[in-house]
Amino acid sequence: MKIDIKELARPEVAKIKPYKGEKDNQEYRMNLSGNESPYDLPLDIKKEVAEQIIENNLNYYPKLYSESLRCKISEYLDYNIDCNQVIVGNGSDEVLSMLIDTFINPGDNVLAAAPTFSMYQFFTELAGGNYHNFLLANNEFNYQSMIDKINDIDPKIIFLCSPNNPTGELLSKEVILKLIDNYSGILVIDEAYAEFSGFSFLEYVNKHNNLVVTRTFSKAFGLASIRLGYLIGNKDLVQEVAKVVKPYNINSITSLIGKTILRESNVIEQRVNKIVKERKKLYDELIKYDSWNVFPSSANFIYIEGSKTTEFKEMLNNEGIKIRSFDSKPPAIRITVGKEEDNKEVISIFKKFKEGNKSEWKKSSF
Ligand code: PMP
Repeated sequence: MKIDIKELARPEVAKIKPYKGEKDNQEYRMNLSGNESPYDLPLDIKKEVAEQIIENNLNYYPKLYSESLRCKISEYLDYNIDCNQVIVGNGSDEVLSMLIDTFINPGDNVLAAAPTFSMYQFFTELAGGNYHNFLLANNEFNYQSMIDKINDIDPKIIFLCSPNNPTGELLSKEVILKLIDNYSGILVIDEAYAEFSGFSFLEYVNKHNNLVVTRTFSKAFGLASIRLGYLIGNKDLVQEVAKVVKPYNINSITSLIGKTILRESNVIEQRVNKIVKERKKLYDELIKYDSWNVFPSSANFIYIEGSKTTEFKEMLNNEGIKIRSFDSKPPAIRITVGKEEDNKEVISIFKKFKEGNKSEWKKSSF
């Protein structure tokens, strides 16, 4: 008997489009596609972690809800946040999914920007919710149009990513603070890239019990491989979300590395400063081309829109450099800020690209 497995799956699963990163059908020598940090964990910290792994047992489950890690995170954040206001997840993906699990019933509405991080839609639709968006390009992120949208669809959760992935822009603080005073659903601020922006909504978490901030160790902390993210909220909210946390969701090695790097947060700060300086250099070069639109960035990547981006992406790929591309209208690319030498290469390829286009233009204008 051949069973139709698709028929057995929930309709939400049958409809789902699995998350896809940039197509990976080529060997790359430089990966600037995933907004990761170009800096690995310092060797002395790696060695220390390795020694601790040797000394400790791996045959027992870790502590149930990672209390010591949550407490180290709350100390590091320093916004008068206590351990019980933090929930940790297997990447911030998992804490985003916990928020959906806690609040979204089938048929509920969720609102987010377009374009933005694709997992908000993925988790919403998997739960049977309806995903709606507002267009950043049409300046729809203003108080009046957000309130109109809220009155229209009554979203149970609004996801705001600031700085936004993929565009890199910070969303207006003024609009968010006005919104939070007048919205009775859950407002999530995804701060995956906040360390590069010097701005955070964490200070407002204790004032508004429907405000949640999510963060990650995957970007500024350079630890994408260990999968560690967290959310911070008011105690009322965290108490509810904590009910959906799966036991032992954080493995002991992730927890160990997370705690160790928090102790060395000055190293991270120095690295963030370097990336921010490099971002400016890259931006200042990439804007020297009239045929596309480079977005000012508060994150560790730069977003460029325009039909010419396709050609530039091909040139970078041919040189073994992987970036992220979007087949939006117009098409767009997102380039992660790398180490100084990586960015120099991108700039030198960009100069060749510009030259090529100049000579093409000269030819066709005769
Ligand atoms: N939020 C945003 C805005 C992201 O860009 C990403 C990763 N690309 C995530 C959350 C998830 O990150 P992680 O699961 O690695 O913490």
